[in-house]
Amino acid sequence: MATIIDGKALAQRVREGLKADIARVVAARGRPPGLAVVLVGDDPASAVYVRNKETAANGIGMFSEVIRRPAGTGQQELMDIVARLNQRDDVDGYLVQLPLPKGLDVAAVTNAIDANKDADGLHPLNLGRLVTGEPGPRPCTAAGCLALIDDVGVKLEGKHAVVIGRSTIVGKPTALMLLERNATVTMCHSRTHDLASEVRRADIVVAAVGRPGLVRGEWLKPGAVVIDVGTTRDQAGKLRGDVDFDSAVAVASAITPVPGGVGPMTIAMLLTNAVHAAVRRSRG
Ligand code: NAD
Repeated sequence: MATIIDGKALAQRVREGLKADIARVVAARGRPPGLAVVLVGDDPASAVYVRNKETAANGIGMFSEVIRRPAGTGQQELMDIVARLNQRDDVDGYLVQLPLPKGLDVAAVTNAIDANKDADGLHPLNLGRLVTGEPGPRPCTAAGCLALIDDVGVKLEGKHAVVIGRSTIVGKPTALMLLERNATVTMCHSRTHDLASEVRRADIVVAAVGRPGLVRGEWLKPGAVVIDVGTTRDQAGKLRGDVDFDSAVAVASAITPVPGGVGPMTIAMLLTNAVHAAVRRSRG
């Protein structure tokens, strides 16, 4: 049976580890690192994510603020909010919660965020830094996946990693981070022929699709490490991952649960990006 990777416990350790940096920022500037979240519209899942981010930030003594606007908010008003956040001294990092309501230009908003305050690590400049290997805030979910794999103690160098899903938010940055760590990376997506045989070759599988139970235990190489990013709410309101947990747990050496795996780590990495931004700013 696989080890169940405890994302909640690891996230707690990451948050604890940030406290020394937070204290240094407070000592240098007389106030804590600040994280702001912009929430437009009334998507219930987004409201939960945003509340969790605020609670986590407050829990480690950060300043946090949620800027809520109704679904009918116009592009210009949102751009003005972003421009103000770029200027505000008390906000070190912020994000605009996605998805945005229809009609709003996500790329224009993302591009307008000051790359140094980009808590999500999704600004094109920071994605470019990831491609070139320069330091910068890394996309939170991808960074969370890497931290979970590291927590298992797997050496990535030379290992074969299969990432399923090629979104800019999760799949692509996760593949790049695995590559940066010298894994041999295969990216799979909706047009991949014979996903099962690709997965069967993997020492590490990261599933970021949004199709509950897609990856079956019989697809896995015995001993594979399985990171399940997927979060889909079923009709009963239960959160379901992309991996069929019951069959996978018998074949994998380690596996993340849903919930309690990648989700808490995404938030821990968001806080990490904001605290590191504050540290950089307090150094001047
Ligand atoms: P997305 O819809 O942008 O991308 C999904 C990807 O899956 C696409 O690249 C597509 O090519 C691929 N895909 C679709 N069907 C496939 C199939 N049958 N076989 C192989 N690949 C297929 O989604 P996303 O934003 O990357 O999110 C993916 C999942 O991860 C969702 O369930 C989302 O809710 C979840 N998620 C979780 C967290 C977290 O913190 N836990 C964070 C972000 C996203």
